[in-house]
Amino acid sequence: MIPTQQALVEITARLQMAGIEEPRREARLLLMHAQGCTQAGLIARDSVDPASYAPLLARRETHEPLAYITGHKEFWGLDFLVSPATLIPRPDTETLIEAVLESGQRPATLLDLGTGTGCLLLSALHEFPRAFGVGIDLNPKAAALAAQNAARLGLADRAAFLAGSWADALNARFDLILSNPPYIESAAIPGLMPDVATFEPALALDGGTEGLTAYRAIFRALPTLLAPHGLCVLELGAGQYPAVAALAAKAGFTATAKADLSGIDRALLVSFRK
Ligand code: GLN
Repeated sequence: MIPTQQALVEITARLQMAGIEEPRREARLLLMHAQGCTQAGLIARDSVDPASYAPLLARRETHEPLAYITGHKEFWGLDFLVSPATLIPRPDTETLIEAVLESGQRPATLLDLGTGTGCLLLSALHEFPRAFGVGIDLNPKAAALAAQNAARLGLADRAAFLAGSWADALNARFDLILSNPPYIESAAIPGLMPDVATFEPALALDGGTEGLTAYRAIFRALPTLLAPHGLCVLELGAGQYPAVAALAAKAGFTATAKADLSGIDRALLVSFRK
């Protein structure tokens, strides 16, 4: 056993040496996970067994994301299970939920294309207590994990998850359609930080040569998928607003953007041209 403070200092130093961006914060989270305790629990603990965290620390030193090591990530104030089958929910993506709430729409039926952990659909269902939603993912393991998240969040009776390609299996219109599609240009993926490039699923990141393949598929499906007065909110990669807005216009929709906290146009709000 070694003093808890000493363990934190040592973990921080090793994370820093490995080039992890927030080593102090992550050291605390890693040790909390290793000890199975809260922050208050950690403060109350005088000493810890280094064997409890050594294997976790070794994984993080290879840049495996902390969320894959702990198996959890917070999004929109809710706790989500994550796995290597899914992208890790990002704070930027919360911009889509903000955009939906600001739109003043009160959707009854929701669809999330490429649902991953289910974070977008389940956060929206959390905000609209009478709504029902469907989440689709090409990876059955992601669809299964999203269903598990629905159950843990008490939303299982209002959410259904399917494995499939975009909306091919659906024959219905939805009031609200959400998607954080893969939008990174294929050639740019090796240059992303190793945490993302090496560990997160290419299926959730790779948007093809121009990064637009998924948007094209979505705009092909949207005319028969979106309710006449419905709203579709898509996540955008940095700098993609003009290109994706042009695709929306070509498909007969109007589109506006909402910026994230860094000022990047992050959410595209799409509706039928009036
Ligand atoms: N925002 C993610 C990233 O920058 C990409 C998510 C996506 O392709 N939808 O790593």
